[in-house]
Amino acid sequence: MANSVTSLPFSMYHTVGSRSIAESRFAWKIRRGNVAAEKALAIVVRGTDWSETSRIATLFTREFGKVRALAKGGRRLKSNFDVAFDLLTVCEVVFIRKASGLDLLTEARMNEQFPALRQNLPALYAGYYVAELLADGTQDYDPHVPLFDAAIQTLRSLEVNRDREGAGVASTRSLTVAVHPEGDLPAAVSAFELVWLHELGYSPRLDACATCGRERLNRNARAFFSPLAGGVLCPECGPAVADRRMASGEALESLRVLSEGGDAPQLPAESRAEVRQLLGYAVSCVLGRRPRLLRYVDGR
Ligand SMILES: [Zn+2]
Repeated sequence: MANSVTSLPFSMYHTVGSRSIAESRFAWKIRRGNVAAEKALAIVVRGTDWSETSRIATLFTREFGKVRALAKGGRRLKSNFDVAFDLLTVCEVVFIRKASGLDLLTEARMNEQFPALRQNLPALYAGYYVAELLADGTQDYDPHVPLFDAAIQTLRSLEVNRDREGAGVASTRSLTVAVHPEGDLPAAVSAFELVWLHELGYSPRLDACATCGRERLNRNARAFFSPLAGGVLCPECGPAVADRRMASGEALESLRVLSEGGDAPQLPAESRAEVRQLLGYAVSCVLGRRPRLLRYVDGR
């Protein structure tokens, strides 16, 4: 198995076109003003080369939510920064807020890294998937402390994951939550997705019809499921909803237990795959597109 980031199917880094660099730099110069520096604990969720020496880092901070900041000299080997702005690096940062929306990073000290992820490609993909959901699912300066904490817990749990079968998706273990130190990879990802959905206001309702509120009496029964309608749907409401899918009682029950932070029951491989499909579908509906890394996480 490939174990290096160089085997990634696409680059997570993008170079900004020269024209827009010149224009944006000018805009940055005329808009800068004296604003107090902010301190935050941050996960690097995206990096963009800005110039020969500088880089724009997209940071998901615990205190402020998503922040995009220019790191002047951030591409030099010997820079003012203690970190290379590698994806998923956790750092303590100081930055100056700018009206332009692109803040200025003045300090960055490494707090935590997850080097074991680079020895395990499925776990690395899962980590990058977490970064993608943080970068693209949240708005600038919209803090979500539980989401930040869940991301850190998920990355730690992915690091201890042994990926026993090497495939990431197929695992002999039952679904467990991300905080479980021996949690398997799909369960860790699923638990994170449920926190992400919850924080964005799309936590699926599973105990009653999301449209009419009728209680689901038989939890083992199949039911319609619609992420945008808000969860499970009764037989009367379901057919009217465009993005409905049919879900098994087992998969829905696993979602319910996972969303409450518990250990889901042992499931056959088919139901585990269904849980992944339902959550991938829900995340895609909320994001408005399929996350780029989802196919590498789920192997399909
Ligand atoms: Zn209904």
